[in-house]
Amino acid sequence: MGTAELICGAVAVLGKPNVGKSTFMNTVLGQKIAIVSPRPQTTRAAMAGIYQDDASQIVFYDTPGIHQPHNKLSQTMIHVVEEVIDGSDAALFLVDAKEGITSEDQLVAEWLQKYKKPVLCALNKTDLVPAGRVQELSGKLKEEYGQWLLFRVSAKTGHGVNEVLAQLKRFLPKQEPLFPEDEITDKTMREIASELVREQCFLQIKQEVPYGVAVVIDKYEEREEPNPILIQATIYVEKDSQKGILIGAQGKQLKALGTAARLEIEKLLDRKVFLELWVKVLKNWRKDEDILKRLGYIVSKKSKHEK
Ligand code: GDP
Ligand code: MG
Repeated sequence: MGTAELICGAVAVLGKPNVGKSTFMNTVLGQKIAIVSPRPQTTRAAMAGIYQDDASQIVFYDTPGIHQPHNKLSQTMIHVVEEVIDGSDAALFLVDAKEGITSEDQLVAEWLQKYKKPVLCALNKTDLVPAGRVQELSGKLKEEYGQWLLFRVSAKTGHGVNEVLAQLKRFLPKQEPLFPEDEITDKTMREIASELVREQCFLQIKQEVPYGVAVVIDKYEEREEPNPILIQATIYVEKDSQKGILIGAQGKQLKALGTAARLEIEKLLDRKVFLELWVKVLKNWRKDEDILKRLGYIVSKKSKHEK
C-alpha cells in the first residue's frame, strides 16, 4: 500500500511586504522552518513551508512581489505568482492592522478576485492596535471582501492562528501527501544555511574540491530588523591546494560563493543576511571520527546520504 491519505493541499500566502507572511508561516510551522529539500526542478522563487501533523499536510507558499502593479512586475514574477495561485487549493490573504487597508492590499485582492479558490483573509498584527480599531478594520474588510472568510490574528503571538489553520483544513482535499516524508527537510535555518553554502561550492567549483568540503555555521545571530541576520561559517577542506581554489585569486572565488549563498539564504528568509565565510584546512577530516563529531551532525547527516 502507498502512503495513507491525509488532508493535503497547497496554500498560497499573500500580502504586501512586512504584513507578516513569514511570521505567520514560522508560527504555523513551529520553531523549525521546514522547506522542500532543494531539487533542480523546484522553483525557489516561492518559498514553501510544510506543515505536517498526523492527519494533514499543508504546503504553504510565500508569494513575493504580488503587491506591485501588474505592469511593474516582471514576466517571470507574474509567472511564478500565477503558478503558485493556480497550484494552490486555497489562499491566505494577510492585511496589516497597524497600517489599515492600503492600495497595495487592493492589488493583492485583485489577483485573488480572478481566481476561483477559497480565500481566507486575516487581519494580522491585532496585538498592535486597540480593540476598537480591530473592530473598525474588521468592518471595513467585511465591506470590501465580505465574500471571503475573515479572521483576526496575531502571527507574532499566535493568537487566532489555530483557527485559521483549522478552517484551511476544511478546504483541502483528502489525498496522498504532496511531499513524501523523506523530501521534507525538518531542519533549523542553521543547517539549511550550511547546506546552501555547500551547494554553492558544488555549483561553482568543478574540480574535486567539493567532496572534501564541510560547512559549519559558527554563528547565527538574528538581530532586530532592519539589521541583517549575521551568519558566520567555516568551510573545511582537506588540503591546502583546495583552500587555494576555494579562495581564488584575490579572494574572488570565495566572494562569489558567499554572494550566491547569501542571496539564496535571503530568498528563503525574506530578510537581509550578512554572511561571512572562512576557509580552513582540516587534513583528512572525512576519515577522522573525532573530527566528524566535532563538525557536528551536519557532517554525519551528509555522510548518511553519501552511503
Ligand atoms: P513578510 O514580509 O510579510 O514576510 O513579513 P514578516 O513576517 O517578515 O513580518 C514583518 C515584521 O512584522 C516583523 O518584524 C515581524 O516580527 C512583525 N510582525 C509580523 N506579524 C506580527 C504580529 O502579528 N504582531 C506584531 N506585533 N508584529 C508582527
Ligand atoms: Mg517574508
